[in-house]
Amino acid sequence: MFFISIKKSRNTLVLKEKCAICSEKIKLRFNPMEEWGIEGSICGDCYSKKINEHYPGDHVRVNKHLD
Ligand SMILES: [Zn+2]
Repeated sequence: MFFISIKKSRNTLVLKEKCAICSEKIKLRFNPMEEWGIEGSICGDCYSKKINEHYPGDHVRVNKHLD
């Protein structure tokens, strides 16, 4: 599993953070893997896509409710 804990993300005042990939406002923040070469945070949707791209096969979809 390639789940990064988002629980440890600090509770900042940055509520309008945008996804580094799709530029949408982030509701649920994920930290991209280092090897993805992405600066900043990404949304659950892009995280899920990236996981798929980089680690095809068994994994947990993180945002089933968005399908
Ligand atoms: Zn995104």
